[in-house]
Amino acid sequence: MTNKKVLIIDDQIGIRVLLMAALDKYELKDAASGREALDIITDWQPDLVITDLKLPGMSGLETIVKINELGFYPETILMTAYDRLSISEDIKISGFIEKPFDIEQLTTMIDDLIVNI
Ligand SMILES: [Mg+2]
Repeated sequence: MTNKKVLIIDDQIGIRVLLMAALDKYELKDAASGREALDIITDWQPDLVITDLKLPGMSGLETIVKINELGFYPETILMTAYDRLSISEDIKISGFIEKPFDIEQLTTMIDDLIVNI
């Protein structure tokens, strides 16, 4: 158990449930949309946000931009097949992971970003 806070954003409840179970050593909250995530962010600042790219309404990338516009700069992991090169350098993405992801790879990535620093 760490006191690091991770916000999980995915419109698929199955993915959220899987991630909540796999990442239970962190303090967790989850959101089904970017809008919901922004509501959470304003009073619960996560150390890291892991978001699906494809969300209904605002995309995962747009959500990260909005989070930054609110003045919050958590580490960010984008679940997408895209690579860093296709995303504007102005947007701070800490890591990318493709679905279906390997949970161990994901937890290592998260630990390297917010725990082992
Ligand atoms: Mg999705």
